[in-house]
Amino acid sequence: MWGKGLINGMRISMRNLLRGPMTVKYPYEKLELPERARWAVRPKYFDDGSPKCTACLTCVRVCPDNILSLDVETREDKSKYIERFDYELGACMMCGLCVEACPFDAITMSHEYELAKTDPAGLKELLLGETEAATNARHREEKARLEGGEADD
Ligand code: SF4
Ligand code: SF4
Repeated sequence: MWGKGLINGMRISMRNLLRGPMTVKYPYEKLELPERARWAVRPKYFDDGSPKCTACLTCVRVCPDNILSLDVETREDKSKYIERFDYELGACMMCGLCVEACPFDAITMSHEYELAKTDPAGLKELLLGETEAATNARHREEKARLEGGEADD
C-alpha cells in the first residue's frame, strides 16, 4: 500500500519536473486570452468608422453599477447626437450585462486588460463624444448588406 502511493507520488513529481513551464515572462510574453474573456467595455464601429451606438440608453439602464452615462441631444427630425458617453472603468465589475443587453451590438467586452493607471482620473473614460448616433435605418442597411454577403458565399 505504501509502495503504490510512493510510486504514484514519484510519477506525478517526474511528470511535473519534465513538463515545460506553465507561466510566461509577462510583460515580455503574453498569454492569448480565451475568446470569451471580458475586460473593459469598448464601443463598436461600422466599417466606415461611425459608431454603432444609437443612444437608446438600454446599457445605461441595465448596468448594475450605474457607471455608464449618456448625454444625448435629440433633434426635431428625431436624429440623435451623442455629446458624451461616459464609462467608469475603475468601478466596472466587467459583468458584461451592458453588452448582452445592447440591441444593436454596439459595445463589446474587449480583451484589453492592461488597464492600470497612475492617475485615478484615467479610470473615468469617454467611450464616445461629439458624434452622431447611428440610426435604426443604418443598422437595417448593415444587416441587409451582411445577409446579402452571406447569401453570396
Ligand atoms: S460590464 Fe457590467 S458593470 Fe461594467 S459597465 Fe457593463 S453592465 Fe456595468
Ligand atoms: S451601446 Fe447599445 S445599449 Fe448602449 S446606448 Fe448604445 S446602442 Fe443603446
